[in-house]
Amino acid sequence: MHQNSVLGHEQVIERFAQSLKSNRLANTWLMVGPDGIGKRLTTMWLAKCMLCEKTPANELVACEECSACQQVDALTHPDLLLVEKPADKNLIPVELFIGTREKRMRAGLCHDIAMKPFRGGRRIAIIDDADFLNQEGANCLLKTLEEPPAFAIIFLISSGEHRQLPTIRSRSQIVRFQPLPPEQIQEVLEKKALVPEGHSSRELAMACDGSLQLALKLADPETLDFRRDWLEQLATLDPGADDFFESIGTFVDAAGKDSAAKRLRLQLVADLASRFYRHVMMQLCEQPVVADETMARCVTIAAERWPGGDAETAARCVERCGEVASQIRANANQALVIEAWLCDLGRLARGEITV
Ligand SMILES: [Zn+2]
Repeated sequence: MHQNSVLGHEQVIERFAQSLKSNRLANTWLMVGPDGIGKRLTTMWLAKCMLCEKTPANELVACEECSACQQVDALTHPDLLLVEKPADKNLIPVELFIGTREKRMRAGLCHDIAMKPFRGGRRIAIIDDADFLNQEGANCLLKTLEEPPAFAIIFLISSGEHRQLPTIRSRSQIVRFQPLPPEQIQEVLEKKALVPEGHSSRELAMACDGSLQLALKLADPETLDFRRDWLEQLATLDPGADDFFESIGTFVDAAGKDSAAKRLRLQLVADLASRFYRHVMMQLCEQPVVADETMARCVTIAAERWPGGDAETAARCVERCGEVASQIRANANQALVIEAWLCDLGRLARGEITV
């Protein structure tokens, strides 16, 4: 991965390069920004530059050839520790920080980060999905952040600084990632020839809210058709009407037999709804809505009929979408969960329940 394969985020990279050069690199970094815009990829690349054995330690360059660079790519570098939320869990298990009961404090990230570097001069820990720390995990981590070993660099990746405890925030350098501009996303989609027939790269780039990850999910004719129908359905303020529940089922089942693939589709359904209500909220607050034609049209229809023009109800709908996303992750009875969700969204959007 060369620097030019990390898309965008020049300011983040520049800031990091400067602190590295001046030898004032903080021990803890909180990398925040919306999902799917490249925080993890960029952080991985920063780690690779710092562990590369061919390039000077205070320069943000990775040779991509030495065995250290290759080990980072393969996630086998002994000085790179990665903690992330297992796909089937709602939170990061505390064992990943302090070891299992039998090995308490003799394993896990908080233990491992304090061990002397094996290869070079640094140990680097990356905690992805840091939104999903539980209280116990956060407390253990906090002790490490209070007195990190001089050779340790710890990155926490999070969707927003408000998702972190003030005690963690205050010990971190906060780095804010911005959504990618549509032009940059458009370029990637075109370069990789990912635009489905009958659609344009501009349309996809405008539809993804600056998230390349979302653009890649949407780059499929079936998904784009479903998205259009779904947004039109949401615009009626009655998402559960017209048997739309079944349409969601059909879209999800079309992912095949694999339950993980189905769950991903269901999460996309929730994510699209969440984005829709967020745009409605913006429109009600008279903020500009930056989106593709379908989203903009459906959001306008909904906002015009929104009861009392109350943005707070729209915010509650966004929250309700977040709740359903975590229920889907937790493998709850999906049919029941989705039906209850659609019902609540409709009642909220029509002003039948108040916040
Ligand atoms: Zn290298």
